[in-house]
Amino acid sequence: MPFDKTKAITALEHIIGAKHVISDPSDMASCLTDWRGDYQGKALAVVKPANTNEVSAILQCADALNMAVIPQGGNTSLCGGATPDDQENNLILSTERLNTIRDIDVAGQTITVESGCILDVIKSTAAEHDLLFPLDLGARGTCRIGGNLSTNAGGLNVIRYGNMRDLTLGLEVVLMGGKVMNLLSSLKKNNTGYDLKNLFIGAEGTLGVITAATLKLFSRPKATATGFAGLRDINAGIELLNRCQAASGGNVIAFELMPRSIIENVLHFYPDCQPPLNDIPPFSALIEIASTAEADQHPDPDGGMPLTAILTQTLADALESGLITDATIASNQAQQDALWAIRELTPESEIKAGKAYKSDISIPLRHMAAFYADAVTAVHAIAPDARIFGFGHIGDGNLHFNLCEPVGGNADFRRHYPDFDVIMLDLLKTYEGSISAEHGIGQKKRDMLRVVKDPIALEVMQAIKQALDPKGLMNPGKVI
Ligand SMILES: Cc1cc2nc3c(=O)[nH]c(=O)nc-3n(C[C@H](O)[C@H](O)[C@H](O)COP(=O)(O)OP(=O)(O)OC[C@H]3O[C@@H](n4cnc5c(N)ncnc54)[C@H](O)[C@@H]3O)c2cc1C
Repeated sequence: MPFDKTKAITALEHIIGAKHVISDPSDMASCLTDWRGDYQGKALAVVKPANTNEVSAILQCADALNMAVIPQGGNTSLCGGATPDDQENNLILSTERLNTIRDIDVAGQTITVESGCILDVIKSTAAEHDLLFPLDLGARGTCRIGGNLSTNAGGLNVIRYGNMRDLTLGLEVVLMGGKVMNLLSSLKKNNTGYDLKNLFIGAEGTLGVITAATLKLFSRPKATATGFAGLRDINAGIELLNRCQAASGGNVIAFELMPRSIIENVLHFYPDCQPPLNDIPPFSALIEIASTAEADQHPDPDGGMPLTAILTQTLADALESGLITDATIASNQAQQDALWAIRELTPESEIKAGKAYKSDISIPLRHMAAFYADAVTAVHAIAPDARIFGFGHIGDGNLHFNLCEPVGGNADFRRHYPDFDVIMLDLLKTYEGSISAEHGIGQKKRDMLRVVKDPIALEVMQAIKQALDPKGLMNPGKVI
């Protein structure tokens, strides 16, 4: 039977009111494309439910009328995860109105939030209670926690606090057909059968709609020290990371690899940014250590913060032993912000630089330098003028090895993308890496997943998908 659009819209309007069912193409436009503008899709409507019951009713209706449901939070996915395909029965389920902070347990250090809460709002709510929700990434002002959960987001502080799986205690999920599964719990120990919560975290909306979550909070660091070091090479950076961990009692909260190409690109497009070092070597690291300890909050007799003294001494020793070529340490908030600005402006400056082949890979730290060198050689063998923008959260083994077209553009650059895929797949196999560290699979890496994932694991994933979504209506075309 052909899909009846009018019947579907009428049913949806009946559930949440006509005002919250958007079907005008121009009003839907921003939901039909992704953050980078790489993917474009179609939809019957964007629906904006306000609570779990409404989500449940929508998923019941979708099941009955054969509508595909594409959950969408902040739409900042970097792999086309929240962009629909071109089918006319697509329904984008926006979590925008599921934005209530349900509970904050200060003593137990947990917070229960609806999935449409913006990451930054959760962070500032925790901060109002002198607590920290540590997930942090560039899209913090736009992305929503349901999107963070569904991609098992990582970001800047994984090295200290872990990714979304590590930060989540409980979930509430609505399944296709409308059943509400209540896994909300603030227990740290809860061994009651299969770990269903972790199945939905990282499922990218292919198994159900997350409507709420209970998250871990932490004591808020009161002192931080931020430095920028020019590295002898990548291996020296890894040794520096380990030295910083040892010196700070494991309190490195960020360790970001910044190649010269990226720093120069940021400075080119944002001339107000200050160069972090006078002479920028091929690789640098942005380092932050933090402490909640009272003793670290007060200046020592020499007038410096104890944490700053630790970082200063570690960097001085590293200079002495030739691991680094130069370093700077922020002595106030403005200087900290200036160092972070270079890192934070990296994604935007990349877009301004031109077309780019993007990756989000992870590699064991011991293979990082060899991977990087081999990848540069292989890429330049087929595209000699490609600019290598390989940066990332190297402290946790995550590298965004991006390849940008040459200055001035190259109409042919995209034709190399399949070759770049082959290079990545070969080298990730050699160096035991992963095709997706934190952004997920989405539609971008679906074909790659079939190549790299263990075939039995793929069978198990298919069986789970079949059991929970037999008609394939949850976010079709993504992951599997
Ligand atoms: C500037 C910038 C910097 C970034 N930095 C990082 C980074 O450092 N680390 C990192 O991990 N990512 C990063 N990202 C990627 C992106 O921000 C994250 O993946 C984020 O977690 C996505 O959240 P969102 O609300 O925008 O999700 P969306 O893009 O809306 O959706 C992402 C996926 O989750 C699904 N989904 C969304 N909400 C739900 C729900 N309630 N239930 C079920 N499924 C749902 C969607 O269908 C889709 O598959 C960055 C993106 C940008 C633009």
